[in-house]
Amino acid sequence: MHVLQACAEIYPLLKTGGLADVAGALPAALGAQGADVRVLLPGFPAILDGLESPAQVAEWVSPFDPAPVRLLYGRLRGCDCSGYVVDAPQFYRRPGGPYADEHHHPYPDNHLRFALLGWVAARLAQNLDPYWRAEVVHAHDWHAALAPAYLHAEADRLGHRLAASIYTVHNLAYQGTFAAHHFGELALPARYFQVHGLEFHGQISFMKGGLYYADRLTTVSPTYADEIQAPEQGCGLDGLLRDRAASLSGVLNGVDDAVWNPAQDSLIPHRYDARRLVGKARCKAALQAELGLAEDPDAPLFCVVSRLAEQKGLALVQQVLPRITAQGGQFALLGSGDPGMEAAFRSAAQAQPKAIAVRIGYDETFAHRLIAGSDLILVPSRFEPCGLTQLYGLRYGTVPLVRRVGGLADTVVDTTLESLDHDATGFVFDDFSTDALEAAIRRAFALWRRPGRRREDWQLVQRRGMATRHDWGLAAEQYMGIYSQALT
Ligand code: ADP
Repeated sequence: MHVLQACAEIYPLLKTGGLADVAGALPAALGAQGADVRVLLPGFPAILDGLESPAQVAEWVSPFDPAPVRLLYGRLRGCDCSGYVVDAPQFYRRPGGPYADEHHHPYPDNHLRFALLGWVAARLAQNLDPYWRAEVVHAHDWHAALAPAYLHAEADRLGHRLAASIYTVHNLAYQGTFAAHHFGELALPARYFQVHGLEFHGQISFMKGGLYYADRLTTVSPTYADEIQAPEQGCGLDGLLRDRAASLSGVLNGVDDAVWNPAQDSLIPHRYDARRLVGKARCKAALQAELGLAEDPDAPLFCVVSRLAEQKGLALVQQVLPRITAQGGQFALLGSGDPGMEAAFRSAAQAQPKAIAVRIGYDETFAHRLIAGSDLILVPSRFEPCGLTQLYGLRYGTVPLVRRVGGLADTVVDTTLESLDHDATGFVFDDFSTDALEAAIRRAFALWRRPGRRREDWQLVQRRGMATRHDWGLAAEQYMGIYSQALT
């Protein structure tokens, strides 16, 4: 089965969030299931730099710009897969980020930049590469969401289907909406701009194009698949998602064992596993020293690794910080995003440098040290399609404390008297409120300090989490099933 994965980021070459982790791990996992997988990416500088021995597959003028576009093919360094890269310097070779400039302003031609990605994906199901033709086109997030629409339009024109199309929503909140007057620039039939198509409240929605035209839809957890069919989390698309419920599945993301495994992780100072946790204690001591925190093994260290965005619920964390430190806990954060939130966390750290440490920025290596050295990881999201950091926490014996929402609800089992000896792996709270978060934190302290138990109960939960497996093999198997269904 020839499978094309169309997406805008891939770990380790270019990453702004969890999408890159998925794109970096899924191809090899599908390959292990027997699929012949290639990735399609825009030629951002970091992607082109990582393309080894590129061969030119085609050169042409696209409908989106008079300058020629080249399609290159090669191995993607560090990705364990090969891929096509759309080399369109007029669109992709820019000094800012992949979606926005240095000042965080979205590029004004994003509709063209990402229409091109979807358009090339659809062409790879035809004859763009004479030696390889996609039978399944799997498009990820709004950036690649027009691929199913272009495939649909071509199928209409030719009278037969070119490839099965799958569209995966990694986050429904980022939709790729553009002013209606751009529709004529997208090289799609005029009739596609309507309620039964790409039109969304008078605008063009790339996300809706994916949701409307793909043969099969997936999102990254079963609970999120349910949540997005209701108005609260449906971002205005819940009606369409309900209509398409029979074609929608939730497939949980996995953890890439080659990147996130405390027994083999070269980015952490001491390696460990569930049987021998002494390495984790050493990682904690090293982290406390690195961050200038009190070097106290008995102070439970809470961490956060996150984009600082409203979605992540970190305003709640800011409010409960005094409660954590008053009970003798410590807190360390790695994140960047909202400037107000960055400033608030920074000043909390300045006020209590022995108990709170904050690093603003994006630092893949430090993320490993922070997760390995902490005792708990906080993920109190307002909504969370899957969430990866709680999965890394589970793997690293860093007990997750999460809100019961989306993929967090699917992956962490709350600790109660009943679940402690059975299936508890973390702490879970329901209401999006400081009271509910605080109550969960109190329960975490209670387990940490349970009298007479010398932390045995804590380690029970910790070790059980480390033993749970969210591997990509399982996810790949599910995707293969969905591809097969879409092909029939
Ligand atoms: P989202 O995609 O919504 O940002 P996920 O939990 O799905 O959230 O994925 C986030 C990914 O980005 C994880 O791999 C996490 O470790 C990483 N990450 C987030 N913020 C940072 C940061 N400041 N530095 C390093 N890695 C980060």
